[in-house]
Amino acid sequence: MTGAPFDRAGIERYQLEHLRAVVGRARRGSPFYARRLSGRPEGFPATMEDFFGLEPTLPSDLASNPTNFMAVSQDEIARVVTLRTSGTAGEGKRLFFAEEDIAATIEIFRVGMATFLPHGGRALVLLPGERPGSIGDLLVRAVAPERECALHSPLDGRTALEHVAEIGAQCLVGMPAQVLSLARGPDFRLGGGLSQVLLCADYAAPSLVSAIERAWGCAVRRHYGLTETLYGGALECEERAGLHVMEGNYLFEVLDPRTLAPMPEGEFGEVALTTLRATGTPLLRYRTGDRGRFIPGACRCGSILRRLEITGRMSNGIQIGVEFIPMHELDEALFGVPWLGDYAVATDGDRPVFALHAPARAAGSPEPAAGELSDLKAALDRLPQRAKSALEKAPPSFRFRTKEHDGVTSVKRVAR
Ligand SMILES: [Zn+2]
Repeated sequence: MTGAPFDRAGIERYQLEHLRAVVGRARRGSPFYARRLSGRPEGFPATMEDFFGLEPTLPSDLASNPTNFMAVSQDEIARVVTLRTSGTAGEGKRLFFAEEDIAATIEIFRVGMATFLPHGGRALVLLPGERPGSIGDLLVRAVAPERECALHSPLDGRTALEHVAEIGAQCLVGMPAQVLSLARGPDFRLGGGLSQVLLCADYAAPSLVSAIERAWGCAVRRHYGLTETLYGGALECEERAGLHVMEGNYLFEVLDPRTLAPMPEGEFGEVALTTLRATGTPLLRYRTGDRGRFIPGACRCGSILRRLEITGRMSNGIQIGVEFIPMHELDEALFGVPWLGDYAVATDGDRPVFALHAPARAAGSPEPAAGELSDLKAALDRLPQRAKSALEKAPPSFRFRTKEHDGVTSVKRVAR
């Protein structure tokens, strides 16, 4: 937020001013928002409260007619991102980004990376980066020229740590289960020079974070972003007590998913956001489907930017009878198993079936041995009581994946 006054009142003034500007751009450029804002006066919103009276935007609105959201002309579009959607409705989400949007993300990444990668430092990025405007490409462009950033294909996890050692990287950037699989894999010692790990593109449970920190004696930080925002959102600071929202670019809200009223600070709800600086595809009060809360109080790091705790997609989890067990609870319990790199879970009738990936396990039977089974049972015993009771009535089964695994994250984690 360069040039913005750094107190809460200043941030709110800045946000309101940028809010009016983005609402204006959306109304002029996007047919969807032209309709939605048609009854609102010029210069809307007068206040934040006014804005919070606007009906939220649903991912299905975007999926059913993406071009209705495009707020600039075709010639101004520098990158189009198509997202797979799990539902069948509509043509799938497509996002249109202009050069200004790309520049804004590069700036966000530059500022974020500078908080933990020293001048002259090197990072290895395990994210897609071949196409201009992809997340890896933007990261590489953001850290240059003061820092170095190399890309490694996310599909080739096996040689990733060799690459880390070869270039002397201090920082590794990747998806949570992918990085955990490296930290618990047979070659984990090659990562001994890492002092920083940045986890993004998926929820990272505290048990997963501490396992990576223990393996390499490094500090792990989490990032939260959406494809819809061209990957920007919030970033953890060194205190690791929540993710600081990039308030110069985004206005976040936490809503009661049933009533859509704002949740009291500190309580969990559905995260919604408004892209204050977007030009290609502005989104106003966009419901992310992610569960999160604002953390009350000030952060010890001294930043006055608000902090979010995010626990992943609300719909991610398994239904056992009447009980829904959220994936973040399963993650926290299962990643405590010292040999587990990743897993996927599905239900067969009412019984959960876990497909396990153990990166250091010798090839052999897909059935867990007695010791492995007792590790897994002990882990599930750490679940909250209502989840434990549900699993007692529908005992899970476990199998190891036998296919050669390359560290690619499992399908249970829905690509965003
Ligand atoms: Zn902080």
